[in-house]
Amino acid sequence: MAARAGGAAGERRILCVGLVCLDIISVVETFPAEDSDTSFIAADFQRRGVDTAHVVWQTRGDVPCACCIVNASSGSRTIVLHDTNLPDVTARDFERVDLSQYKWIHFEARNAAEQEAMLDRVERHNRAAAPGQRVRISVEVEKPREELLPLMGRGQVVFISKDLAQHFGYRSAPEALRGLRGRIQSGATLICAWAEEGADAVGPDGKLVHSDAFPPETLVDTLGAGDTFNAAVIFALAEGRTLQDALTFGCRIAGRKCGIQGFDGII
Ligand code: ADP
Repeated sequence: MAARAGGAAGERRILCVGLVCLDIISVVETFPAEDSDTSFIAADFQRRGVDTAHVVWQTRGDVPCACCIVNASSGSRTIVLHDTNLPDVTARDFERVDLSQYKWIHFEARNAAEQEAMLDRVERHNRAAAPGQRVRISVEVEKPREELLPLMGRGQVVFISKDLAQHFGYRSAPEALRGLRGRIQSGATLICAWAEEGADAVGPDGKLVHSDAFPPETLVDTLGAGDTFNAAVIFALAEGRTLQDALTFGCRIAGRKCGIQGFDGII
């Protein structure tokens, strides 16, 4: 599934390539009616001003759905994922996207071979485009799956998860950045968030930057903190802010998210 953030007419936007999963949190007062999951997600996107024009509506498979049990005292979560057979977005689907409308495309690493072909297309577009019209590419590798790792070499901004870092045996974000930096392209930026320890990044100059986390007064719900962090960092970098500023902004917004249930009232 792909969605694009809304913006003023003529303004280039940010496109996300990935998959949307419906999380049912155990503390909700209402439960989505049976088979209402797709319309629930579509309505939620609309309410938040996310343009879903490029969403690929699949004719087979079900919406992935997760039941999440949030620990009321710590905000940590246990997720029971009903992983379904919903097909991923393909390179053919991606052909229909007019790349000139976008200043940034974010890829959530999932179906590596198809995404490599999508990335090839964006790179071809960038080679032919004037410098101010190029699309910046970010890639998030969250799951420690071998076939996803080459995608780390395809983004100008690459996010790796604590999970992935720990899978490689790293015990902190700086350690992971030092160990995995060789996998990204030259001139790229590697970013690793580490829950309550905040986040670290290394930019093209090789300097390590860090932001502490911004813990809320009460930890309510950490579900989606990582995605919130990524979105806030991309937003800040796309506005031309420095890596340090973007990292601090990401941690500040993600911290705020941890203090509320869901995402309403995050900013
Ligand atoms: P996820 O597990 O959802 O991928 P991460 O653990 O990567 O999330 O955290 C992303 C960001 O969210 C962190 O860099 C931090 O800024 C914020 N964050 C996550 N957990 C906490 C927490 N317990 N307290 C404060 N901030 C947090």
